[in-house]
Amino acid sequence: MAKKELLRVEGLKQYFPIKGGLLGRTVNHVKAVDDISFKVYAGETVSIVGESGCGKSTTGRAILRLEEPTEGKVYFEDVDLTSLSKKEMRKQRKDLQIIFQDPYASINPRQTVADILNEAMTIQNSVPANKRRKRIIELLETVGLNEYQADRYPHEFSGGQRQRIGIARALAVDPKMIICDEAVSALDVSIQAQVLNLLEELQEEFNLTYLFISHDLGVVRHISDRVIVMYLGKIVEIGDREAIFENASHPYTKALLSAIPVPDPTHEKTHIALKGDVPSPIDPPTGCRFHTRCPFAQDKCKTDEPLLQTHQTMEGEHKAACHFIEEIASGELLPRDYSIKPEMV
Ligand code: SF4
Repeated sequence: MAKKELLRVEGLKQYFPIKGGLLGRTVNHVKAVDDISFKVYAGETVSIVGESGCGKSTTGRAILRLEEPTEGKVYFEDVDLTSLSKKEMRKQRKDLQIIFQDPYASINPRQTVADILNEAMTIQNSVPANKRRKRIIELLETVGLNEYQADRYPHEFSGGQRQRIGIARALAVDPKMIICDEAVSALDVSIQAQVLNLLEELQEEFNLTYLFISHDLGVVRHISDRVIVMYLGKIVEIGDREAIFENASHPYTKALLSAIPVPDPTHEKTHIALKGDVPSPIDPPTGCRFHTRCPFAQDKCKTDEPLLQTHQTMEGEHKAACHFIEEIASGELLPRDYSIKPEMV
């Protein structure tokens, strides 16, 4: 059956101005997201991964227009979100919700859980007033909380329970898609697993689509159908989960994956140590943005920007932005040896 496209991001840019000088003029920009395009299909989970500062959270916020995108288009069910008025965009958020890392920061601590859920339903007019209390109880049960907790305040809940409240608030308006921005990053591992399982159950039950933003590759491996890898505001690789985790093409993705511990102590693994920090997004490197840290970089990488190109592997289709994918895969181009070493993990 053909997949139904739900979200399409085209040429999205998010630049933040840097003011300076006596007159406070814009002297430069932080290029947090720099010309990215991708699609999300109904019912799937697409994750965006990368180091801190790669632009993944900014992408989520720009899609929802919590920050106004500098350039580019965002289509949700073929409606161009970037062309909507603020009022129209507020209505559209009924279909497109977000869950943050710290739900406590995005909820009013003086409201009870019932108030929080009631407010969400009132703003979107998603449930008639006389049916809201019943719906609140249903929502609490759906996310694994109890009826008696409806009249409690957020500070009376644990971190995991608060994230369940955040999920209930998102569900209160019957969304089609939820952007999960580091939604389980602050939770203990066992609670993380419970919330991830809950998100998977809800996806099945309500046919939800997730855009899952995370720096945690273990979590991403667990939950994703497809994965987008970002580096310094650009997409460097997109592919099916197996294609990314079993046979990544891009040197940056390979380096990220090589840092995940392997449970089997006898398993020999090549660890790719990335040199230095992520360069400044104010003045990113020319050509391939990864060339200052890439163990395979050649002269061409300093001048020519690589485009995302499709590669078919046994594990599925993926796209990677690197001039030397074939040469690296065949072993024709070897890494500079100081940055790659086999080691027992
Ligand atoms: Fe490395 Fe060059 Fe490929 Fe960029 S284009 S990832 S610098 S080999």
